[in-house]
Amino acid sequence: MNTAYSRHKRHIRISTFMLLLLSVLLAACTVPELSATPQSESIPNTITLTILYTDDEHGWMEGWNQGPGAAELLGLWQAQFGYDPADPRFLVLSGGDNWTGPAISTWFKGESMVEVMNAMGYDASAVGNHEFDFGLENMQHTVSLADFPYLAANMRTKPHEQLPANLGIQPYTLIDVNGLRVGIIGLANLRTPQVTNPANVQAFDFTPYVEALQQTVPQVRDAGADVVMVVGHLCNQELRHTALKTQDLDIVLFGGGHCHETLAERAGDAVLITGGPYLATYAWAKLTVNTATGEVLRAEYDVEANRGGATDPKVAEIVARWRAETEATLGEPIGYLAQTLPERSEPILRLITETWLLGYPNADVAITNRGGVRDALRAGPVTIADIISVMPFDNVLIDMTMTGAQIEAFMQAQGKKIFAGGIQQNGDSWVLNPTGEPLRRDAVYHVLVNDYMYAGGGSYQKLAEYDPQGYDTGIDWRQPVIDWILAQKSTPEQPLDEAIRALGK
Ligand SMILES: [Zn+2]
Repeated sequence: MNTAYSRHKRHIRISTFMLLLLSVLLAACTVPELSATPQSESIPNTITLTILYTDDEHGWMEGWNQGPGAAELLGLWQAQFGYDPADPRFLVLSGGDNWTGPAISTWFKGESMVEVMNAMGYDASAVGNHEFDFGLENMQHTVSLADFPYLAANMRTKPHEQLPANLGIQPYTLIDVNGLRVGIIGLANLRTPQVTNPANVQAFDFTPYVEALQQTVPQVRDAGADVVMVVGHLCNQELRHTALKTQDLDIVLFGGGHCHETLAERAGDAVLITGGPYLATYAWAKLTVNTATGEVLRAEYDVEANRGGATDPKVAEIVARWRAETEATLGEPIGYLAQTLPERSEPILRLITETWLLGYPNADVAITNRGGVRDALRAGPVTIADIISVMPFDNVLIDMTMTGAQIEAFMQAQGKKIFAGGIQQNGDSWVLNPTGEPLRRDAVYHVLVNDYMYAGGGSYQKLAEYDPQGYDTGIDWRQPVIDWILAQKSTPEQPLDEAIRALGK
């Protein structure tokens, strides 16, 4: 998808002949394969900016599905683009959701991932909904550890509509690239309160994207920006819409995220890129900018797999240190149990599904498969290693919608193979646990399921058929269980048993 184009001020009329000549010249100098040599400024009075873009990293520094991770991605960038973090012409940007994911990131509330991103030379990240997952105090701390800013121009503190500066979040940043000032504006997702624990974001308003850009772009230009870019935790559809509605603002590049998609295309004059989740892929763009006018004279952009890069030793060392730290925490007791919860028993299934709902209160119902539960939880000290024995699969939680009638039909068809939290059977019908209200057949409910069931793993009916737009929360399915057990602060004298019995009651 390597593409080249030329962009001109709209008031200059270009003759057909000039256009033809230009396209011939451009076609002649379009390089189909990227060279491994550092970029050169072949056109006088221009700077070529190379944007390296990831989003929804979700802490996968070790690589998704045993694939290449952060150290290999850095090695790939060095080989493919001649990337050097000290060269200001490279801008490494993220679309947000950096932290929540596997234990190596989640157990350290994102601190490990920020250290990796610092070493990779990130210049800015949008604020993803999952940046709020560990609470505001932690967010402020983790943001303060980053060598790069977290950006959201559409986030305000209630009730006085102040910028959330005390969290360390800023609306934009300015980067000096050999005299060319690049303004980067961030956008948080409007649906943030629906896709993180709402308690963590109740103090904030998230304002519409187009309005936020109409307000912020002039401020960034007043502050001296020659070129303006946006990093947004926005799905491709929202990103396209926002780009088309703000064409008059001359934003040269929009980066997206959140929906785990990839994208490399144009909307009007702007380049749109989304890198895809888990560092398995990334997007890049090369923009040749006229240093006098800030015009983009040429753009190339694409999405590529994180494949074939040599391991960067510095990042590999950081990842190995956090891996050792993760292993060291596995054997530490997180709670105490007086009586064993047998494998696949109702108490163990209730512990799993009801703690999902406590950890992700936007959902009404939680359904899991008994087959995913592979051990008893034994009496005595409970460790994270014990939870991993009970739930050995690396599943994540999907937030999907189903009608009451669909939930009933699914529960009926799957019978004892599955277990639901948030609802219980009352004769022939189902009632919602907290209120005792019957499940309404035509009402739409948010249902948490593991990604294995969602995709129709095993012999389960594919839940994705009910809702193909299910939201991948990126949350490890064990994490809410671990968080809840820790929060009980149980002891041998005051074990967990009573609190587990009370779950969902
Ligand atoms: Zn997100």
